[in-house]
Amino acid sequence: MTPFDHHIHSSRSDGRVSLEDRAKSVAIRPHGVSDHYPWHDLKDHDALRRYMDDAARLGLHVGIEYDLGQAPPLPRATRDTLDYVIGSVHRVTLDGEKVGYDLAGQFLKGRMGPTYGEAKRFADPELQRRILEAHLALVREGILETGIDIVGHPTMSPLAARGDPDSGYPVEWQERLIALCIEHGVALEINEAYGLPHRAFLERAHARGARFAVGSDTHFELLPLERTAAMIREAGVGDAPFLDGRRLRAGAPSIT
Ligand SMILES: [Zn+2]
Ligand SMILES: [Zn+2]
Repeated sequence: MTPFDHHIHSSRSDGRVSLEDRAKSVAIRPHGVSDHYPWHDLKDHDALRRYMDDAARLGLHVGIEYDLGQAPPLPRATRDTLDYVIGSVHRVTLDGEKVGYDLAGQFLKGRMGPTYGEAKRFADPELQRRILEAHLALVREGILETGIDIVGHPTMSPLAARGDPDSGYPVEWQERLIALCIEHGVALEINEAYGLPHRAFLERAHARGARFAVGSDTHFELLPLERTAAMIREAGVGDAPFLDGRRLRAGAPSIT
């Protein structure tokens, strides 16, 4: 079975491939589009609706990658019109100061060489604890208030880039994230570009009954999901429920 790929960027945000060409590559394997919201030209609700209309007209499954903690509130009707919403954390704010995940992300994608340059900065246990809490709070808000369907690259952060993610993320924190998703029927993404979550996390999530969603997170041409296939195989999660291009959960009670 070829899994549906939910996480794909087009030139409407920072991808290098037009929506029109994305619509053509659906013939290669099933996928949707999920541009960043907000992003330069995709910065407000009007622009978002235009993107949604254009993508739907091309026959694409239409999602967004909602930037947790940064994006404007998503009106209920817009959320419901989307086939799915991926909610991703790309930074946290601690005491008014933004702590970005960009370098960590680039490193995890293998674009920064063998050494993670920020490792020392993020070695402080107190800073780690605050990042973990802020990260989880953003995911919780996304689930309860925005009504996200998928947690994008759930364990992408400086804590994963520092080394062994199973010690970077305390097991108790992993269990809280997993339980939160299961309670609300939200899928955990298996992300091809970053190669995460790590095996033990996937095994834990599967043992608790989690739902998963596949995302290549490609900004370029569509490539085979080789890493994803290996992650699914090695963690033995192939028999878990996977999202198939459309949301399964109803709206969150508090979104309006
Ligand atoms: Zn992302
Ligand atoms: Zn993305």
